[in-house]
Amino acid sequence: MITVENLSKSFPLNGSPVVALRDVSVDIQAGSLFGVVGPAGSGKSTLARCIGLQERPDRGVVRLDGLNTGTLDGRRLREIRRQVGIVDSKIDLLAERTVAGNIASPLEQLGLDGPQRRTRVANLLDLVGLTPRASQRPSELTDGQRRRVAVAKALAASPSVLLADDPTAGIHPDEAGSVLTVLDRARAELGVTILLTTPDAGVVRRVCDDVAVLENGTVVERGTVLDLISDPSSRTAQALLPAIETTRAQSAKYDRSVDVVLVGFASVGALLPEAAGRFDVELSTIGGGLTRIGDTPVGRFRLGVRGVQADAALAWIAERGGHVSHPARGPQGLAA
Ligand code: ADP
Ligand code: MG
Repeated sequence: MITVENLSKSFPLNGSPVVALRDVSVDIQAGSLFGVVGPAGSGKSTLARCIGLQERPDRGVVRLDGLNTGTLDGRRLREIRRQVGIVDSKIDLLAERTVAGNIASPLEQLGLDGPQRRTRVANLLDLVGLTPRASQRPSELTDGQRRRVAVAKALAASPSVLLADDPTAGIHPDEAGSVLTVLDRARAELGVTILLTTPDAGVVRRVCDDVAVLENGTVVERGTVLDLISDPSSRTAQALLPAIETTRAQSAKYDRSVDVVLVGFASVGALLPEAAGRFDVELSTIGGGLTRIGDTPVGRFRLGVRGVQADAALAWIAERGGHVSHPARGPQGLAA
């Protein structure tokens, strides 16, 4: 568990300080994949570096498993730092060593003996899907493969926390997915807690359980991704849910229209037809669509609604976890 309490950090710049973080608080559950999303310059890397104990905040506290890291002296700080693996934009692989050699290098420094080291390297190669490339040099790999080697190397010393600062930066979109898959596997198979920063909401959609949205050094939204998408006004919902595009003519055929967000296989597959049948109402999809958040199917639809028992049908959907809201301006000028 990582707790960040009221963190602030500025950097001096030509006399006037640049504020990178303002009063930032987040809780990162052990074993979760926590995303920090925000535009360039919003403070993501500074937050990651403060949590990785590479940077000291001006104010506020970073606790790792309850331990206040601000009180640690040099030796203890170095020990605790070893529990945090870091993958950032510079991929510092050793050009003259093989992929396996690169992953082994932190283990050599720790003095792990040969057989143990080889087993650990083999497991990590498998985790990052690069077993067939074990004896190649970094220069023979693609950018995405090199990033995966960097992840394996950062995981070699069995850290409890992995900081992945914009892990898909500079990587071709075709390869970005495999980098994220590796992070997801590291979380699932090694139980490592992962803090991932990204400017890309699509990355959050693929792998994050929880998210904090940063703007100008301030957390403007945070929560579990699935909770946030249930609130159509949240930034996360706006970034991740399918857009609703309907024409006036489409909605004019119905008594009114409503928006629903459905989360999970059961809801997405069955809730609307079941409600329509049970209450004998028409619920027609006139906009929106389906997406996936991690492994969870999620739908946002605009429904054209017709029938005497429409309110009862919508209430029934809401009781079963559907999130029903009214579009800002309904057809025929009906306000929500
Ligand atoms: P992000 O990772 O979201 O792009 P950063 O944390 O790198 O954001 O930067 C946040 C702000 O802090 C930016 O305005 C940046 O210019 C400034 N900043 C970050 N690191 C330094 C530094 N070492 N010296 C001066 N300014 C910095
Ligand atoms: Mg950055």
